[in-house]
Amino acid sequence: MPNVLRTVMTVLASLLLLVSSCKKTVEGESQRWEAGVTEVKGLMAQYPGFKPALEARLARAQGIYDAASSLGEEQKIAKMAEANGELRKDFVGELTGLADTMKALREKRVSAAANAGDESSRLGAKVAAEDAGKALDRAESTLAAGAKDEAGAAAVVSKVKADLDAASSAIDKVLSADKDKKAAADKKAGDEAKAKADAEAKVAPWKCEYCGAENPHTETACTACGAPRGDAKKDAKAPK
Ligand SMILES: [Zn+2]
Repeated sequence: MPNVLRTVMTVLASLLLLVSSCKKTVEGESQRWEAGVTEVKGLMAQYPGFKPALEARLARAQGIYDAASSLGEEQKIAKMAEANGELRKDFVGELTGLADTMKALREKRVSAAANAGDESSRLGAKVAAEDAGKALDRAESTLAAGAKDEAGAAAVVSKVKADLDAASSAIDKVLSADKDKKAAADKKAGDEAKAKADAEAKVAPWKCEYCGAENPHTETACTACGAPRGDAKKDAKAPK
């Protein structure tokens, strides 16, 4: 069974890959460190107001990273991993994702009004989109002002993030209420159509299943041949 064998081999290979990628190595941690330093320097250029806080963070993590060099293999890896964690924790990690969060909110506020169905939802979406615009402006000026140290940066960045998240959920709430409203309107329309069809069916003429004559809905037997209404159907359905 070559197919089964191939599947087993594939599963084993991916397991091996998973295990090896989870296992920390000096080389892996060193690559993570280089990438992290580049990232932090990029943040300094993008958010100059946070430069002092980012420099303090980088210096402290660098201290931990440098201390790793004198250690034996296993402890060295652990120390390097500690430096990598330290470099990216709290405000650095949040600041990294903030540009994407802001971009997503900008796009969401533009499409909010377009996605809202009726007039009142559009109004709600417009208000939520305006609020989101204000939150984005606030975020930009707060981020431009920056913070003088790490503690200040952590407080400022998490406040900005919470502000943006709240604006984003406000838009979601309007759109989700609008969706519910639309579903309720669709259901009402469906129920009404069904009630109308049922009412029409009640007064519709019926066709005799024996001779094919059309009879008014008031007749219970065929006016042409005398067969009772629905007789043939009843016979066909009867168990043998
Ligand atoms: Zn008939």
